[in-house]
Amino acid sequence: MKPMIRTKILLKKFVKASLYPLHGFPVTYWYRGDGHILMLHRVRPKSKTKRLKTVEELEATPEYLEKLINHYIKSGYTFLSMDELYEVIQLKSGIKKFVAFTLDDGYGDNYHFAYPVFLKYKIPFTIYVSNSFPEGRANMWWYYLENLVVANKFIEVEDPTNKNVTRLNCSSDKDKHLAFHTARRIIINNLTSDKIESVRGLFGEENTVPDKELLRAMSWEEIKELSDDPLVTIGCHTLNHLNLSILKKEQMIHEIVESRRQLTEKLKKTIHHFAFPFGSKEEVSERELAFISQSGFKTVVTSFKEVFKIDRADAKKLPRLFFSGNSGFRNQINGTRHFINKFFPD
Ligand SMILES: [Zn+2]
Repeated sequence: MKPMIRTKILLKKFVKASLYPLHGFPVTYWYRGDGHILMLHRVRPKSKTKRLKTVEELEATPEYLEKLINHYIKSGYTFLSMDELYEVIQLKSGIKKFVAFTLDDGYGDNYHFAYPVFLKYKIPFTIYVSNSFPEGRANMWWYYLENLVVANKFIEVEDPTNKNVTRLNCSSDKDKHLAFHTARRIIINNLTSDKIESVRGLFGEENTVPDKELLRAMSWEEIKELSDDPLVTIGCHTLNHLNLSILKKEQMIHEIVESRRQLTEKLKKTIHHFAFPFGSKEEVSERELAFISQSGFKTVVTSFKEVFKIDRADAKKLPRLFFSGNSGFRNQINGTRHFINKFFPD
């Protein structure tokens, strides 16, 4: 190899290494943060049907979760519940290298596959439940959309606001990824409580109906059983899992307040923790942040991709680290996406 080329490769490696937070490289020190709130959704065996990578990577197998927990144990992390994390934030000091496990939505596999793993290691965790899940009326349109994109060479999506029809190419895997995210954004930006049924109608065809196991939510009995275990915290994730920032103010308030009221009634305990549905800066505006900070929750988590520093953490606007069962952790700092595959070697 010519020296010039080799220098270039080494330089490339150096730049890459220095961009990976948690990689143990000195340059990354300032990006490292004090710990993680991990955002998971599903823990289940790998699907046998053809899936879209971008959706499937929201899932971890029980074996992967176990390896992940072992990695944190070996690396000397402290496992915190959201109540404990709240205390640490109030004190603004104390623990470095902590991790808090959170799972969003209320999928059935949280009870059947994740809970036994957490129980085995006595790891505290939080599930943010959207009431529509245990009530059997959750509109999991993302799985219908996934099937539609997997099965077709193109799809057409009509924007309900301006009636513009967008034709999305789904030929290659890359096209399917882009098509899914474009259609997902159109739905998220338009789906209000009064339109839930009409979106259901979009996916009426037989071949778009997802695997039953994928659509399985936890029942109220299962959630109550988890809630009675001191390891488990049940948090609020709104009534219908909508983009709160597009709702009328009174609808937005109803989604939060009524969800919390019902959870309190069903579980017979105060609900102290909240997670925004979707939760990126595109779905969480200043209006929602202002309302939630006055709502009496101890902590509020978002999907904001920011470094977590205890001394400047805002308990009502906490960032989370997106967990991917396929490619390790992802983080996004200052607009640059980092894939931290090496952080968790097999
Ligand atoms: Zn969610």
